[in-house]
Amino acid sequence: MLILKDPSLLRTQAHVNGSWIETGQAFPVNNPATGEVIATVVDAGIDGTRAAIDAAHAAKPGWSARSGKERAAVLRRLHDLMVANADDLAAILTAEMGKPLPEAKGEILYGAAFIEWFGEEAKRVYGDVIPGHQRDKRIVVIKQPVGVVGSITPWNFPNAMIARKLAPALAVGCTFVARPSELTPLSALALAVLAERAGVPAGVFNVVPSLDAAGVGAELCANPKVAKITFTGSTRVGKILMRQCADTVKKVSLELGGNAPFVVFDDADLDAAADGALIAKFRNAGQTCICANRIYVQAGIYHAFAEKLRAKVATLRLGNGFEPGVTTGPLINEAAVAKVERHLREAVEKGAEILTGGRRSSLGRSYFEPTLLTEVTQDMLVAREETFGPLAPLVRFETEDEAVAMCNASEFGLAGYLYSRDVARVWRVAERMETGMVGINTGLISTEVAPFGGVKQSGLGREGSKYGCDDYLEIKSMCFGGI
Ligand code: ADP
Repeated sequence: MLILKDPSLLRTQAHVNGSWIETGQAFPVNNPATGEVIATVVDAGIDGTRAAIDAAHAAKPGWSARSGKERAAVLRRLHDLMVANADDLAAILTAEMGKPLPEAKGEILYGAAFIEWFGEEAKRVYGDVIPGHQRDKRIVVIKQPVGVVGSITPWNFPNAMIARKLAPALAVGCTFVARPSELTPLSALALAVLAERAGVPAGVFNVVPSLDAAGVGAELCANPKVAKITFTGSTRVGKILMRQCADTVKKVSLELGGNAPFVVFDDADLDAAADGALIAKFRNAGQTCICANRIYVQAGIYHAFAEKLRAKVATLRLGNGFEPGVTTGPLINEAAVAKVERHLREAVEKGAEILTGGRRSSLGRSYFEPTLLTEVTQDMLVAREETFGPLAPLVRFETEDEAVAMCNASEFGLAGYLYSRDVARVWRVAERMETGMVGINTGLISTEVAPFGGVKQSGLGREGSKYGCDDYLEIKSMCFGGI
């Protein structure tokens, strides 16, 4: 039973054109820690999605006509409401997704920070004046909102993945249709409640929960009223969406799979590196797209580092995210546990050794013990595929060149991490890493002030920072003649 200070934040209808609608269809949302049904949520389906697109299309002229300062004021109120209601939003998030309550609260504040940052940016969508190419000509460049944005997001950050997209979209004058993960729609609906209270007009922010991900996705991609698709999720689905957007030449922003390398050189501060590896690997039970997936350790310090990390992993406490002191929650479902087991089994068969963990937990069907594997090699699944679970594989390397080659031997390129105290080596390796982001002597790199995004098959576009508005803007050049 979910107890909230403000129970009205728990909405179960779809949010379309400022109304909370029923469709006659609904689906259950489960707590992954216990398996119990928390709520039954209205399924907006394709018709509801179409209605939301129409509403967003109709609301766009009015919203984009507001000044940046006016839109900023609305986003500021939304930020403040998110902070004021952070405890309830976190409880809803933990109930539907499983991460420990303090981590859920951290996610709410992280999501709110994007609303604040882009609200401030709303006032700074500057253009350019270009000297004319002829005596009587003047050229002015303005930036305008792309239009209706269709958003598809995953379950691992049910609030922040939407906030990161909603904030720049609304800031620059776009309107928005969000299709949250069918596993975690309640956080998205709670955000819509607060957006309404903050004064976001009807039709500007619509939420269409649905079981039919492929159908709703196809509608968002095909509908000519949608100008842009923004997606966070797997590379497989990202490719489907990109293909579907080709017919209407929609803009796409894609934040896709990771498989982040984490490199520890022999000159690193090993305690700091073990702390960094612990957070980069085990945060959110290993279920983030920038989680360290392959930990490369230089041969001379391999055993010392493994022992330090083992001691830190031993401090993690697995359990229900609502229990005080729990650091590691359940995985999202049993399929996620099965993937961790598959990676683990294959690695052990090929010669990897389990230093700690290595088993499902007796706590429940979605729990897996935080696990550390040594003697892992580059050919094992754990080093090649994103595990998305609490499994840390340690691979040995000898030289800097070998480490860089191993990092780059992947079709993915989201985040990478490296630990070294040699400033020249840090520059060399960071520049050579084929990733959109590099954490240097830190395992935590996410913030609204820095650009987040990947290269290679990890995606297109950037979220956050002064670059983050660009994905939601068109550039218009106006050439004045006869002057
Ligand atoms: P993850 O492994 O993180 O769940 P997915 O790419 O499978 O990644 O899912 C991310 C989001 O995309 C989820 O909300 C999911 O429901 C949705 N999704 C899955 N398949 C499709 C599809 N064919 N078209 C549109 N959205 C989809």
